[in-house]
Amino acid sequence: MQLSKSKINLNTPIVLGFTILQTAKLRMLSFYFDFMKYYFHDDSFAYVAMDTDSAYFATSDTLEKCIIPTKRLEFYMNYDKWFVPPFCSKHKSDFVQCKINDRNWNMDICCKDAFHFHKRTPGLYKVEFQGTGIIALNAKTYHCFGNGNSKTSCKGVMKHINDYQKQEFMSTLLSKHPIYGVNRHYYDEK
Ligand SMILES: [Zn+2]
Repeated sequence: MQLSKSKINLNTPIVLGFTILQTAKLRMLSFYFDFMKYYFHDDSFAYVAMDTDSAYFATSDTLEKCIIPTKRLEFYMNYDKWFVPPFCSKHKSDFVQCKINDRNWNMDICCKDAFHFHKRTPGLYKVEFQGTGIIALNAKTYHCFGNGNSKTSCKGVMKHINDYQKQEFMSTLLSKHPIYGVNRHYYDEK
């Protein structure tokens, strides 16, 4: 006996999904070409991995110290076009003045509110992880570490039963031998 549906309801918003992904990819490329390559010399940064919504790169010093000196003012004037702004609309010029004069920026409560609000604004970047190294083996498969912290992404492998650390990533990088993982809890369709 064969069963088949008499009616198939195709209501997935494919066009919407396609547009979101393409817009995200365009934004990632724009960050590389219009931001990184514009404000920094090529020899002060190196990309390691990029995904639809994140990029990992190494810099020769802190990001702010790598800015091309003649572009520092422009960098901070346009800061909120690229990053979640740590300032509200009233205090933007204070932030810019503070930064170009190499002073620490302290957020007022209004600026903190703006920062938390814009964390949810699509297209703005924020630091996901900052450390001293990253081993990126494959798409969506990397381990970054440093400052007593680490972050692992292992596409397709359950994290809570496969604890991969720096040594596993490093041994695969150097030996080219794969490491195997275990996934559990697949259910038969009944
Ligand atoms: Zn403010």
